[in-house]
Amino acid sequence: MHCMIKKSNHFSSKIFDSFVKQFYLRNFSASSSPSDGDSNVPTKTNDDDDKKKLTKQRKKPEPRKIVVIKDHGNVLGTGKKDDDDDAAVNIGADGVPYNPVNDPHYSNSYMMYKYPQYFTKNIGFTRAKNIVKEDISLLLDGRIHKTREEIGCPNHVDVCVFGGGIIGTAIAYFLKEKAPFGLKIAVIEKDPSFTRCSTALSTGGLRQQFSLEENILMAQYSSEFIRNARKHLSILDGEPPDLSYHPQGFLTLADESQAEQLIRNHQKQIEMGTLVELYTAERIKEKFPMINTDGIVLGSYGVQNEGWFDPLALLVAFKAKAQFFGVEFVHAEILDFNFKNDYHYEKTTCNYVVVREPDGNVRHVEFGLGVIATGYESHKIAKLLGYGEDVDDWRSVVNFPIEPRKRYVYAFNSKDGPGLNFPFLIDTSGTYCRREGLGGNFICGRSPSNDEEPDVDTLDVDYSYFDRRVQPMLKNRIESFDMTDMKIKGAWAGYIDYNRIDQTPLIGQDPFFKNLIWATGFGGLGVQMSPAIGRAIMEFLLYQDYKTIDLRAFNWERLFNNKPLKEVYQY
Ligand SMILES: Cc1cc2nc3c(=O)[nH]c(=O)nc-3n(C[C@H](O)[C@H](O)[C@H](O)COP(=O)(O)OP(=O)(O)OC[C@H]3O[C@@H](n4cnc5c(N)ncnc54)[C@H](O)[C@@H]3O)c2cc1C
Repeated sequence: MHCMIKKSNHFSSKIFDSFVKQFYLRNFSASSSPSDGDSNVPTKTNDDDDKKKLTKQRKKPEPRKIVVIKDHGNVLGTGKKDDDDDAAVNIGADGVPYNPVNDPHYSNSYMMYKYPQYFTKNIGFTRAKNIVKEDISLLLDGRIHKTREEIGCPNHVDVCVFGGGIIGTAIAYFLKEKAPFGLKIAVIEKDPSFTRCSTALSTGGLRQQFSLEENILMAQYSSEFIRNARKHLSILDGEPPDLSYHPQGFLTLADESQAEQLIRNHQKQIEMGTLVELYTAERIKEKFPMINTDGIVLGSYGVQNEGWFDPLALLVAFKAKAQFFGVEFVHAEILDFNFKNDYHYEKTTCNYVVVREPDGNVRHVEFGLGVIATGYESHKIAKLLGYGEDVDDWRSVVNFPIEPRKRYVYAFNSKDGPGLNFPFLIDTSGTYCRREGLGGNFICGRSPSNDEEPDVDTLDVDYSYFDRRVQPMLKNRIESFDMTDMKIKGAWAGYIDYNRIDQTPLIGQDPFFKNLIWATGFGGLGVQMSPAIGRAIMEFLLYQDYKTIDLRAFNWERLFNNKPLKEVYQY
């Protein structure tokens, strides 16, 4: 009985295959003659010939090119193209030109039913057959549609967020919280385990001490949000999120050359209601006896709303609440965008993103509004959108300003090091250090100067950087850190999304594609600013304007107009 069933299954699958083959050849093969359709099941040779003919018919498109811009008229580009043709290189999401025609896994069932001929020609017979087979098996199962999980990627959404790090996820959360029923939102993330994203590798510092008003306001709101994350991000019947928030002020030290700027910043901060205090060297010594105040003139200390927290826990909490509200998180990699010329409005629009799912299937997602939150990989998205590429308009001369920069974090143990009273220290050299728990564990780091920026090909750690540039500073500043006692326990490296022009974020409408919004370039601040950014982008998308904190200063215009911003507090 068992054997019979097997045999009959085999038999019906054979009939099915030959039926689909004939159907395919009759309807879609350009080479099939009427007599082909009348003949019996095509032999292997006929089938091979047809395949070869189809392959010949495929037109191999030219690989896309970017032009490397060498000289800048304004901060972004020259206004004229580089003549050097040799500088043109092929591109794609990972530096490889992507072409769906050459992708053996290309699949898009939606496109198939709309354009069957296009689909079968591009995708090949086997794949087309499998999709029809899959749909028939659904029907036999008594269903027409697949479940949400089976479908994976949606075909159409109102808002598509590119990148599911903390910024993208916070944006999705705020949007869906404000418009729970009206908006279909998807977040596309290629690595939901977050192994390399900046968020997971950050140190989770939360501070109020900035020089730009926008940053001060965002820090105030974000600090309120993060300290009350349980209230904002709890889910009915679920465990409230635990961000491991450690309240502890930042102590920013200033030598003689830095003191004037520190006073200016301090004044602005207190005018805006930030709880910070300015200390003389004597007062610093009194309050923090472990600190060597040689060469120190002033110190600014945050008495409230500062500390550190677990960035990944905040990301997970944002994601869980966004999912609870109905945001779809799609596990897929963004490969490309599809543009169309809208002749009515005489513009090119970008409403399709091409993504590859983990099983290799490549799909189109149609979207109304797109938010680019791909962190340190935003320059790759910029290329896909034509920036710095060989396109026929001004985008070709824009040298996208956000790039990855590598930062090291070192974890060390010093059994005689300071305890609970130790602030989040920012030394005059830019070296930072904070405790990690209370067992004599600390983490520290320092941003390299421009000429010692490490290469960004890998996330390898340079341990000699600690010996050369970090340890001597700390040893000098913290008296109880004994050189022989400081033992490195571990280290990691992460990329920040660095704005090489003015080190401040790029937030706002894309200058070319009006339905795209950028939220990137946060450097060392993205984690702590994520609630404020999420809320701001929500306002921008839903009300076409910022309602609470005006972030227009961070848009593209400042770069086109050669008016870079400057945030003094960076590390
Ligand atoms: C060592 C270190 C210390 C830091 N310390 C602090 C700190 O103390 N305080 C603070 O506030 N900030 C800190 N930061 C900065 C902070 O981590 C970042 O600013 C923030 O995480 C940026 O978030 P994001 O969502 O924009 O980027 P990410 O977290 O990098 O997320 C971007 C996501 O986009 C996805 N993506 C990219 N390309 C594609 C594609 N083609 N298809 C699909 N998905 C894609 C990536 O997989 C990634 O998950 C630190 C960063 C580092 C590296």
